[in-house]
Amino acid sequence: MFRGHRVIGVACVLALAACAPAGTASRPGPEAPATTAKAPDRTPVPSGPPGVKPRKGEVRPIPRTGDLPPVISSIPTERKVVFLTIDDGWEQDPGFVQQVRDQRVPITAFAMRDAVEAKGTPDESGGPARFVGAGKWGYFRQLRDAGVPVENHTLTHPNLRLLGYPAQRREICAAAKLIGKEIGTRPTLFRPPFGNYNTDTLRAAKSCGVSAVLLWTATVQPGGKIAYQVPDKKLRPGDILLLHFRPNLARDFRILVNKIKRRGYELGDLQAYLAAARPR
Ligand SMILES: [Zn+2]
Repeated sequence: MFRGHRVIGVACVLALAACAPAGTASRPGPEAPATTAKAPDRTPVPSGPPGVKPRKGEVRPIPRTGDLPPVISSIPTERKVVFLTIDDGWEQDPGFVQQVRDQRVPITAFAMRDAVEAKGTPDESGGPARFVGAGKWGYFRQLRDAGVPVENHTLTHPNLRLLGYPAQRREICAAAKLIGKEIGTRPTLFRPPFGNYNTDTLRAAKSCGVSAVLLWTATVQPGGKIAYQVPDKKLRPGDILLLHFRPNLARDFRILVNKIKRRGYELGDLQAYLAAARPR
């Protein structure tokens, strides 16, 4: 499948993906040598955990939701820890990868195909863009190499509530398969566009190998400003924050991380916390 894909005429796209961000052209991408997708362009990741891990007994279990994946907006903990997630993938500033790699900041990316591959018009709320689709999936391989899990955010960013089960399933399963091929690991987390979902979404997600559906408790606006979904406008233990791959992400991210630390919060390892919160 992977070899066939190359042969039928998207080699230029894959070549771009491997080479586009400045400073990475000399590194071989997974598709550069004629080997399999399992020969990743991994650079050494500094040792040490990228985010705090849960203490024993710290996290309360998330209630079971039948046999469907749980829908999670925050992690049930009393510890002052929050989690950073970044969606879509339009703007692909190489400076941000560098920042994540150098500062060991724990983030989870939710990649959406049309954004990553720059098919269509990006969200312009962050200002003029410079790196739209610059590295395509190569950008997400760089994030992966910096320790970032790359999870599922559909192919085309539809309002899933307006789609029937088969169309929802295609959006989720095809994106999971694509991420598996491009990144080397199939995603197990799913974030529905706009936070819109219904029971068909959960059934479809389950059939595509999704173990949890991730929502959020606050969004981060340009300038690093946090827009809370609660009236008292405070960070709360276990909050999941939503950012987007927008212009000026590196600057906004720095402001945000400083703000979180000033308020006495740590940044958590989302995957470790989800594992600790798994329904029992
Ligand atoms: Zn999105």
